[in-house]
Amino acid sequence: MIVAIDGPAGSGKSTVARAMASREGLTYLDTGAMYRAVTDAALIRGIDVTNSAAVSDLANRIEISLENGPEGPIVIVDGADRTKAIRTPEVDENVSAVAAIPEVRSAMVELQRASSKNADVVAEGRDIGTVVFPEAEVKIYLTADPSARARRRAVQRHGGDTAKDLSAVADSAEAAAIEAELIARDKADSTRKTAPLKPAEDAVHIDSTGLTVDEVCDQISALISKARA
Ligand code: C5P
Repeated sequence: MIVAIDGPAGSGKSTVARAMASREGLTYLDTGAMYRAVTDAALIRGIDVTNSAAVSDLANRIEISLENGPEGPIVIVDGADRTKAIRTPEVDENVSAVAAIPEVRSAMVELQRASSKNADVVAEGRDIGTVVFPEAEVKIYLTADPSARARRRAVQRHGGDTAKDLSAVADSAEAAAIEAELIARDKADSTRKTAPLKPAEDAVHIDSTGLTVDEVCDQISALISKARA
């Protein structure tokens, strides 16, 4: 069974995918973490992220592995734990340029398919239902209003949990800056030539704006039951 969850930045994919993994006994695959790992590796080496040849060479040389941690994947790059390093604002700003490079994408897609072989998986990203696993039994396109997405990110940055408290309050100036970054990243991700962010034709659209994580998961569990029947 493969469950594919695609959608824009901050739509709740990671939270929902993690919850679905524990609900349904699936392996969680965070594909964004892989593009982030390549971006972090380029930044620490001072490689210009628009230098496609240098970045693709790097993507093919480094070893990325994801291990399941209690709060999401533990990201190991060439033996070093980069879990926190891949979530900085600097990586946020540079990751779309790295993810637009076709050779980087083919290296990551290969890794994604290899790490899902013979496993029941919930994978989240931008091109899971369209490119990585077009045969996925369940495909979700998860969206939310940009302001809701930014507010959730702002709350999470300060250790809050929007999964538990829908009305958690965020700093409004910080949320506005995050919203601008999310919108810029979505634009870059959906307009690139290779594997742009877009819903698969057979994806079920879920708008998570006014929904709790459990409410989103209930909808996905119903689709999984239907696919298993
Ligand atoms: O999901 P997350 O925000 O961690 O993804 C970071 C970036 O990685 C995205 O903005 C996008 O540029 C890239 N990405 C991608 N394809 C995927 C997953 C992520 O291009 N399947």
